[in-house]
Amino acid sequence: MLFVKGLGLLILIAAIFFAPMFGLYYLMRFIFRSLNNNRTEKRADLKYAEMILSSKFVYYQKLNENDKTKFLKRLINFIDNKEFQGCGGIELTEEMIILISASAIQLTFGLDEFLLDHFSRIFIYPNVYYSRINKQYHKGETNLAGAIVLSWNHFLEGYTKPHDKVNLGLHEMAHALRFDKFKNYDYDYFFNTYFDKWQAIAKDEFKRTKEGSSPFFREYGGTNANEFFAVCVESFFESPAEFKKLHPEIYKHMCILLNQDPLANPFITDQNTPRISSNQNQPVSGNLLYASSSNAKSILSLIFAIGFWLWFSITNLKDGFSLDIILFSMAMLITGYFIMIRAFSKIHFYDNGIIVSSLIPDVLYKKNEFSYDEIVSIEFINEHGDDVSDTIKLTYLSNGKIRSRSFSDNFISNAVLRIADILQSKKIAVKLKSL
Ligand SMILES: [Zn+2]
Repeated sequence: MLFVKGLGLLILIAAIFFAPMFGLYYLMRFIFRSLNNNRTEKRADLKYAEMILSSKFVYYQKLNENDKTKFLKRLINFIDNKEFQGCGGIELTEEMIILISASAIQLTFGLDEFLLDHFSRIFIYPNVYYSRINKQYHKGETNLAGAIVLSWNHFLEGYTKPHDKVNLGLHEMAHALRFDKFKNYDYDYFFNTYFDKWQAIAKDEFKRTKEGSSPFFREYGGTNANEFFAVCVESFFESPAEFKKLHPEIYKHMCILLNQDPLANPFITDQNTPRISSNQNQPVSGNLLYASSSNAKSILSLIFAIGFWLWFSITNLKDGFSLDIILFSMAMLITGYFIMIRAFSKIHFYDNGIIVSSLIPDVLYKKNEFSYDEIVSIEFINEHGDDVSDTIKLTYLSNGKIRSRSFSDNFISNAVLRIADILQSKKIAVKLKSL
């Protein structure tokens, strides 16, 4: 007993001691960050950045006034977040810093997170440079240690030849955007969730590029999935009309993924984002391909819950009707409702979409029909290691936002594999998980 009291006292003392320490830490961090921000205003002059972008950066020139302000704000913030270093005898100028940062802001302009936070250092060489890591000459690289390296000559060439589908700046920034998540920094949630969908859509064309038979994407994109995305980004900004004509589906989902459409006019505004405008709801119809069955375990837990409620009510009713019984019954009713929703949802796979039906009205979700076009991914989670899938997580796009809903269901594992095949042919990312 004394030991427990002593331990309690120790925790209390620790709490009293550490609470102000944490407060002080956050205060110091706040002050330090504001000081840092002040320092940047001197480093990257807003007026100067505006002048450079207005005369040299076509993407910026095409923006409306509001978006120009947003672009500049993001640019200054980005520069503040990075450390730039000239290498190989190059003299680093403010113009270089502004233009390189602008290529990152261009790529991420439709996203919420634009700092590419994991990449804190940007190294600039005058021309190709020798990489000691793989003993080769490089034009640029983005490495997971948190550095982006660029040849200034090739960076410039990317923008002076604006339609050849080669742009080193956008290429490396695309890698950085993709890698940002792997280090668990403040990555863009929408981009990273929707990327699965984009990849499912682009899969066949990636294969063709790998075989060297894509009519549009250069062969280098076939190196691996990361290079393919970077090459798609270059083509998206440099040759959008041809991209859309040859690969309308990949183009459309690229617009949703990056939340901008280089062909639209005005091509970016807050109100008219490709994410929302692409969201048409066609009714789900066609042949029923598969329907799930109700979950036996859930039926058992429901019977158990009803039994528990009856037992509690009967034993307490002996002393008369009381508030306890009313409160307990209400709690059980709410619990029962959620068990029913989670357990008795059935999923029906049709030719062009999915319908989720429930035994009782589902007040939490307005949406029950999902066309394959708006479904991002479906996850089958096996919680008990047997051959039945316990939880299905459906992730979808609704009014420009990523949403998901989970429910229990019974699937026999070979049925899961069969459904996975169907879904993959409908260009949906399927994930099979065992906990
Ligand atoms: Zn690359």
